[in-house]
Amino acid sequence: MTRWLAEYAWLPDHAEPTPDVLIEATDGRLTAVTPLTGGGSPAAGVEVLGDATRLPGLTLPGLANAHSHAFHRALRGRTHDGRGDFWSWRDLMYSVAARLDPDSYLALARAAYAEMALAGITCVGEFHYLHHGPGGTPYDDPNAMSAALVEAAAHAGIRLTLLDAAYLTGGVDGAELVGPQRRFGDGDALRWAERVDAFRPADEHVRLGAAIHSVRAVPAEQLATVAGWADRHGLPLHVHLSEQPAENDACRAAHGCTPTRLLADHGVLGRHTTAVHATHPTAGDVALLGDSRTGVCLCPTTERDLADGIGPARRMAEAGSPLSLGSDSHAVVDLFEEARAVELDERLRTRKRGHFGAVELVTAATVTGHAALGWGDAGRLAVGDRADLVTVRLDSARTAGVPPVGVFFAATAADVTHVVVDGRTVVADGRHLTVDVPTELGDSIAAALS
Ligand SMILES: [Zn+2]
Repeated sequence: MTRWLAEYAWLPDHAEPTPDVLIEATDGRLTAVTPLTGGGSPAAGVEVLGDATRLPGLTLPGLANAHSHAFHRALRGRTHDGRGDFWSWRDLMYSVAARLDPDSYLALARAAYAEMALAGITCVGEFHYLHHGPGGTPYDDPNAMSAALVEAAAHAGIRLTLLDAAYLTGGVDGAELVGPQRRFGDGDALRWAERVDAFRPADEHVRLGAAIHSVRAVPAEQLATVAGWADRHGLPLHVHLSEQPAENDACRAAHGCTPTRLLADHGVLGRHTTAVHATHPTAGDVALLGDSRTGVCLCPTTERDLADGIGPARRMAEAGSPLSLGSDSHAVVDLFEEARAVELDERLRTRKRGHFGAVELVTAATVTGHAALGWGDAGRLAVGDRADLVTVRLDSARTAGVPPVGVFFAATAADVTHVVVDGRTVVADGRHLTVDVPTELGDSIAAALS
């Protein structure tokens, strides 16, 4: 058994953190979560009990990054100045995609996932579409790039949901994939399913899921094939949705309806589906998403970086869509920033404060994100759940004097000191135990761009 004594811990269904909590785990599962004092502040001089590791600060459940494209990490700092928009950014992204192979992708993803571990992310949803070799020729193992991502997450010490994306066309009009896009394509949805069926990683830290890249990349008549595959296997299904008004316009022109309506008509929506972004839904789209209990993954730091706009987060939550969070392009890897941006962006849009409470933001960053990735047994400090712990210091220049309940409005990823994933310590004293993150990021990005 492993034991930790948290100065504060955020327990399920609590409006604020609880002081002095003894947390015990066996075989990667929480076996006891016990508050030691009944008061509102830590008891002076509570001694470390036996072999318990003391965790000063606030301990949270594991954070789930529900939307990642690992190779986008190479673009950080390279696409942010000057003019341009989502589409010009995409051209640069394609140039990196054109260069990677399984070895260089393993190195880059390992470093990117280790950066996530440092930020308190214990599980990542990799929306993976860089499947094939240059020109679209499959590798000897057609899932070699998927295998590289699985290995990268193992090295970084975090769990992975590999959301294997069908990416078949270059536009809603069914245009053929061209240039670097050809690496993404399997030809049609049946061949996509055949390839994915052949990938059966046995590793404990990985689960599979499906993705529809977008209505731009999967023809309407093939949407049900991907959705049906996910449904048959009981796996999560993710889809980029209405990140740009141009996608809505193109979909209306081609199909006479919004992308959300198109997905609804082809059986894509539902409680196992997560729509990523949903930045520009109509009122009818919000109702379709909410009524079907389709989740929405917001990626505010990417949406601001790409000048996408601000999605109607509060309206979507009210309509019935569970909200999760993703770092997407990794312009920023910081789920505290993503979480508070959900509230702060809503303030900018409405010029009113107070849309999301702290508990809602914690929930989005933890339990809802894990559920969206198919891990219904993670994201809560509760007996039986996976032993994921993320400790945030309360004595940094950013967090000193901040009440524990206010951490999501004050802390950054740099304030994470201790991370445990499935009972194993991955980060201690703010350092990754197995990956030299800055060096490996620098080297792998240089290699990916060379
Ligand atoms: Zn994305």
